[in-house]
Amino acid sequence: MAETKVVQGTCPLDCPDTCAWQAHVEDGKVVRVEGDKAHPFTRGVLCAKVNDYPTRTYSPERLLHPLRRTGAKGAGEFERISWEQAVDTIAERFGEIITRHGGEALMPVTYFGSMGAVQKYAPLRLLHALGASDMIGNICGAPGLAMMATGHTIGFDPEEYVHAKFIILWGVNVLTTGHHHWHFLNEARKRNGARIVCIDPRYTQTAAKCDEHIAIRPGSDAALAAGMARVLLTEGLADLEYAEQMAHDLDEFREQVEPWTPERVAETCGIDAATVVSLAREFAAAEPGMVRCGVGPQQTVQGEAFVWNLSALCILSGHWRSAGGGLALMTFPDVNLAHAARPDLKQEKVRSLELSRLGAILNGDDGGQPIKGVLVWGTNPAVVLPDSGAVRRGLEREDLFTVVLEHFMTDTARRADIVLPATTQLEHFDVHTTWGHHYVSINKQAVEPLGEAKSHGEITRLIALRMGLNHPALQESDEEIAASALPEDLPLADLEATGWRKRSPARAPIPAPDKRIALAGYFATEA
Ligand code: SF4
Repeated sequence: MAETKVVQGTCPLDCPDTCAWQAHVEDGKVVRVEGDKAHPFTRGVLCAKVNDYPTRTYSPERLLHPLRRTGAKGAGEFERISWEQAVDTIAERFGEIITRHGGEALMPVTYFGSMGAVQKYAPLRLLHALGASDMIGNICGAPGLAMMATGHTIGFDPEEYVHAKFIILWGVNVLTTGHHHWHFLNEARKRNGARIVCIDPRYTQTAAKCDEHIAIRPGSDAALAAGMARVLLTEGLADLEYAEQMAHDLDEFREQVEPWTPERVAETCGIDAATVVSLAREFAAAEPGMVRCGVGPQQTVQGEAFVWNLSALCILSGHWRSAGGGLALMTFPDVNLAHAARPDLKQEKVRSLELSRLGAILNGDDGGQPIKGVLVWGTNPAVVLPDSGAVRRGLEREDLFTVVLEHFMTDTARRADIVLPATTQLEHFDVHTTWGHHYVSINKQAVEPLGEAKSHGEITRLIALRMGLNHPALQESDEEIAASALPEDLPLADLEATGWRKRSPARAPIPAPDKRIALAGYFATEA
């Protein structure tokens, strides 16, 4: 009789849905993962990408032992070494770099291959303690996040979608990327008769399920949002009382959108002027209306103008006053897992290097002090970053010492000096937040690590110990690292007992008069 168990977990990927899963284990091996039906938002369904997650863990191509490069960078020639040899080499080379060039010659290169507190943030503890340069920036939804930093609210609880009366899906293919949102959007249609309009240059799977599809020209989103805002202002449809409570520059914004007549918007977007007007009127009249927006339109030349105009449109409409109304671009539980990185371990202020400029940084084209060592985890920069050719050239520098934590021999790992085998989500413990709903969730270890794979927390502890770093934070267990990221009123034990906790932030609070936000200023005159 096989010994079986079911272990609670969470999908680690950089996705707004952050699904809760159950790992089914038989005789020490995960035989399948499936969505946890009890989770209020993800409701028991994973996506096609992750349904077969165990095939990742048990892939014959998994890296299961530390490797040292023996051939040219990029040639993919490595020899197996012990963990002791790997850690000795890393400690020696990082130590040499610090002695000769200073800590800032080291740099983290990381993204959200895992959004977990331990897997994402633990290695930063080591680099902070070594005085490494900081890595900043975002290669995904930067315009929206930058706008949020100025005080704009960019999302709300998606379980509120059910209250919406009119829904615009703008540049987002919900059924393919974040399909759990569709249930709540469709529920608004069933309960309230909400009409759903899709704005997308492509006729997507989602567009096919909507009541109307408006195919605008790629990159013209900012113009349409400006034109809709202008209709609200010129036709007296704006909730000016609310808008004046939120923003200090309504007159300036009015001037900014004034040139965006329906005719000009129509010409820019490749649609009818009447569509611009009717869409704006229908949005304004809904009680409430909402816009679910994707990351894609933010990545156009007018991406910044788009998110600002869209936020302004939602504020002018006053829909934020009601549950189910407003802008749904990104939303987060009120827990900041970045605390797990322990920035207080930095001995002194260090420079910040922009991830999207990694190619220039590694090739010395940014004019700064050269980078001599990088630790890479949770990303494959040789492929995913802008100007990836320059990134690859930089990674091939003979005087650059590169350590990569990975599951597979990626294009980045092929250019590393040392490759360390990392555990997959089924083999380690972690806690997760998300950017698409309000649940913090647990990932319990389902099985023992395969081969010699180790969690990022364990790798951090080994290197720190070998380098003689004695701060207690550098020897915390993975559970302690996870717990350190949680607020006092959310003890790890509670999360372990329940699997997840909802932590909703306040809904678009009205700012104090002297803290009102700006709406204008982010629109190029020519779209
Ligand atoms: S929908 Fe997103 S969070 Fe859910 S399983 Fe797929 S990638 Fe993971």
